[in-house]
Amino acid sequence: MSEPEVLVGVRGLAVHFPTRSGLLGRTTGAIKAVDGISFDIRRGETLGMVGESGCGKTTAGRAILQLIRPTAGSVTLEDVDLVRQPPADIRRARRRMQMVFQDPYASLNPQMRVGEIIARPLRVHGVARTRADERRMVVELMEKVGLDPAWRERYPHEFSGGQRQRIGIARALATKPAFIVCDEPISALDVSIQAQIVNLLEALREELGLTYLFIAHDLGMVRHISTRVAVMYLGKMMELTASEELYENPLHPYTKALLSAIPIPDPVLERARRRILLEGDLPSPAHPPAGCRFSTRCPLATERCRQEEPAFREAAEGHWVACHLV
Ligand code: SF4
Repeated sequence: MSEPEVLVGVRGLAVHFPTRSGLLGRTTGAIKAVDGISFDIRRGETLGMVGESGCGKTTAGRAILQLIRPTAGSVTLEDVDLVRQPPADIRRARRRMQMVFQDPYASLNPQMRVGEIIARPLRVHGVARTRADERRMVVELMEKVGLDPAWRERYPHEFSGGQRQRIGIARALATKPAFIVCDEPISALDVSIQAQIVNLLEALREELGLTYLFIAHDLGMVRHISTRVAVMYLGKMMELTASEELYENPLHPYTKALLSAIPIPDPVLERARRRILLEGDLPSPAHPPAGCRFSTRCPLATERCRQEEPAFREAAEGHWVACHLV
C-alpha cells in the first residue's frame, strides 16, 4: 500500500509566551503553550485534536497557520517550510490555508454585510478579477454552505448561530484553500445545530478534497468526523492514532480518562461503566510538572514518571503515545 501523502508536516513546534513583571516589564519566564509537538496531517483527512482548555490546541492551530509565529520548530505546507518564509510569502500561502473560528459572531465584523464579509478574501487574495466575478463567487459560496444568496445584504446579527457559522465557513472557502483549521467550530452552537455543521464540513471535505485540523475540547465531538485523533495535554501530545483505534484501544491514561467521561446514551451501560476521575486541576503551563506532564494527575504515576519525560513514540503501527508504561 502506498504511503499517504503528507499535506502539513509539524516538527518540534513550540510556542512560548514570555511572562513579564515589574515596572520595566522584565521577562521573568515563559508560558509554554505548545512545547515541542510533531505530527503529520495527511491530504484529505480530518485530524481531530482534543484536550482540555489551556492544553495548547488552539495555539497549535494558529501557529500552524502562522497567525502566531512559533518559538521553535517547523511547519511545512506542501513541502514548503512556512516558518522560514518572509511575511509576503506567508500571506500568499495563507490563501491555501484558512481557519473557521469557534465563535461565529465574534469573528464576523458586525458592521459589514454578509456579502462583503465573504467577498473580502476574494478581493484581498485576488481570486475575483472583476466585480461581476466577485458577485458570482459570493452567490456560489453562499449556496455551497446552504445560505440563501438573497440574504447577502443582511448583517451578521440577523442570522442564527448556525447560519453565522455557515458564513464563517463560506469566508474560509473563498480562497479555495487546501487546508482548514476548524477551531472548535461547533462548541458555541446548540446541540441540535452541531450535527448540521459537522455534516456540512464533512460534505465539503469530500466535494472539495479539503484537509482539516478539527480542534475540540472533548473526544465525543470529534469521534464521527475524524480520520485520526490527537490528544494534547499541557502543550504536549499524549497520543495520536486512527479514530477507531483510539476509541477502542486507547493506550494513554489521559485518553482513557477523557473517554470514560463521555456520556453513554444507554442508561444501563451508563450506570455500569467506570469513570476515571482525574484529581486536581490542570497545572499552569508556566510551571509544568517535571518528567511526564500528566504525572500530577495520573492514577498510575511512578517515581520515574516524575523525573523522566516519556518519549512520544510509535507503540504499534500508526499508534503514537507518550507514556513510560506503554
Ligand atoms: Fe502516567 Fe507515567 Fe504514563 Fe505519564 S508516563 S501517563 S505519569 S504512567
